[in-house]
Amino acid sequence: MKLNTSKHILKCLRRHIKEANNIVAILGVEMLVESGGVNFDTNDETYRIEQEYGFTPEEILSGSFFCAKQKMFYDFYRKEVLRTSIHSTPGYEALLILQKRNKLKTVINKNYYDVPKEIKFDNLISLSGTVSHNFCPRCKKSFSSEYLISKEGIPYCDSCKASLRPDIRLFGERINNALFTQAVNACTQADLILMLGKDTYHDNLLPNRTESRKQTRILFTSEKYMENPDFDFIIHDEIQEIIPLII
Ligand SMILES: [Zn+2]
Repeated sequence: MKLNTSKHILKCLRRHIKEANNIVAILGVEMLVESGGVNFDTNDETYRIEQEYGFTPEEILSGSFFCAKQKMFYDFYRKEVLRTSIHSTPGYEALLILQKRNKLKTVINKNYYDVPKEIKFDNLISLSGTVSHNFCPRCKKSFSSEYLISKEGIPYCDSCKASLRPDIRLFGERINNALFTQAVNACTQADLILMLGKDTYHDNLLPNRTESRKQTRILFTSEKYMENPDFDFIIHDEIQEIIPLII
């Protein structure tokens, strides 16, 4: 296995993790892709979706599109979003080990897919909602993703006949304030932040650098030339390869 990260950096990361007592892990796009999810935010995927649907993934997964073109939204959502099944990775296993050692205190999921079902985090903040939950905006009844898959076109509530909506944050919609505050507080108190992939929504969860001098931040990203002064280390290896090596 050939790593992009040098032995020296690996040693530094190991030391930071060993010394840390309050780690926050933020699950981003790369973490999702390694567990079987699709990253719509690539040139290839954007092109493919645009050819097939006439709109970009970001346009379709927006709050305004959902209101205006619900049938097309659900055609896309069933075929492209709900087809994904998420499996565990050595990256998730490594996070569980950090949790067992009482170092990992909070996990913030920025993806709208649940973490793999065998992975149980004690303190998980699902900031973007989840595709496994849908609800009726009128009577608040809950529906599974299987219910959505079993229907054609726009899915309706079987009690009050209103059209359903997935419990995920669509682009252009406001973030859940209570959850956001919880996530920001967890990040503020952390002595080490593991940013496991890109954040599609670009929410700023991290406290101001000057107020958090003792906080170490490690960004894992597949984007090779990315520079970011907010992070002490930027790692370009697969998360599932490198995390088991540094814990
Ligand atoms: Zn209803």
